[in-house]
Amino acid sequence: MKIKAPKGTADTFPPVSEEWERVGSIMAQRARCYGYGLIKTPVFERTELFTRSIGAATDIVKKEMYTFEDRAGRSMTLKPEETAPVVRAYIEHGLDKRPGLTKLYYMEPIFRYERPQSGRYRQHHQFGVEAIGSADPSLDAEVMRLLMDIYAVLGLEELVLRVNSVGCSSCRGAFREKLRDALSPALNLFCEDCRRRYGENPLRLFDCKNEKCRELLSDGPFIDDNLCEGCGSHFRRVLSLLELLDVPFVKDGKLVRGLDYYTRTTFEVVSGELGAQNAVGGGGRYDGLVELLGGRPTPCVGFGTGMERVLAVMKEQDLRCGMQGPPAVFLALLGDRPRERGLKLMYELRQAFIHADTDYFDGSLKAQLRQANKRGFRLVIIIGEEELAGKSAKIKDMLTGEEEKILLVEAVERIKAICS
Ligand SMILES: [Zn+2]
Ligand SMILES: [Zn+2]
Repeated sequence: MKIKAPKGTADTFPPVSEEWERVGSIMAQRARCYGYGLIKTPVFERTELFTRSIGAATDIVKKEMYTFEDRAGRSMTLKPEETAPVVRAYIEHGLDKRPGLTKLYYMEPIFRYERPQSGRYRQHHQFGVEAIGSADPSLDAEVMRLLMDIYAVLGLEELVLRVNSVGCSSCRGAFREKLRDALSPALNLFCEDCRRRYGENPLRLFDCKNEKCRELLSDGPFIDDNLCEGCGSHFRRVLSLLELLDVPFVKDGKLVRGLDYYTRTTFEVVSGELGAQNAVGGGGRYDGLVELLGGRPTPCVGFGTGMERVLAVMKEQDLRCGMQGPPAVFLALLGDRPRERGLKLMYELRQAFIHADTDYFDGSLKAQLRQANKRGFRLVIIIGEEELAGKSAKIKDMLTGEEEKILLVEAVERIKAICS
């Protein structure tokens, strides 16, 4: 029996994997322009990190984590998100004891046991940033601007940025009670999950994907109308900064995001192509998380965006990444001695950062030219006995059919000149 990849996972080959790499490097470049540096963390963490930070009542912790015992009997979990691991690393390396701001970006695999459907994977990849150390509303605006900036550089269109504030522990506590009171007369109309959430954390009702539950919640009350003074002025400042930075947005009082650690600003970017339930990216502020995980009180804000989702929207919108791979040359080598000389040249070209490759099936010139064409090489270097005797080679342009004779010693320089 053939062994297949686990359900909900994907293998990626060229050219999709190459598009992937280019998209990733554009994201990283944009983040670096905004002052963020790369962080890498392990694929698995102690389970407690996620139960404590994401919240025991969330769908992620209740239904979606890949949790296992290691050989010493410790409970480990493949990371279902990256903010908690970044904060864990930040505290572990004592960065919370240094003054100032820490700005980090990441590109990491994320594991969630979700129902496989289009655009949802059990292992997907996330690009994200975290700005740790300041409650300044201009950082909230900065991460949203960066996220929209990345999408704009990639050429994505018709994206909507939805923004909300979920308040702090004090205004949220009062709002939970208000929400319970408002919903209690109609509680039996909600789905079973929502009735459970009502007791554990009524804000989680806003996560429900059930149409009927969403309908029942559409008249509010909404948290953004019930913020304390500090949270209210922070939120107003964030929105006015978004306007200042020309970032279009829609206020959405129902946007709470599926994690308990968010405070104040939350946001999500949705694309018409993926449907309203499928955010391309999102994030928010999590001012209590560093302290919750044992560090000094440190305000933070960040976002994450799914690579698979971004690539899916790009495909829908027929977009290709503008970045180009290295120039490419195919070497058609005919006979043993020309092949030996040609292989040396091939490695010289590779050394010069030119993508150079040859035939490995002992084909005729015709077969080799056909292969070069099929594999998309524009330039072919032909070396046979006759060329070798003249210490030369022929360069053929596959697009125009033109041929040029060059000296082997000058080949690398000549190819570089043609490709530049
Ligand atoms: Zn508040
Ligand atoms: Zn529901």
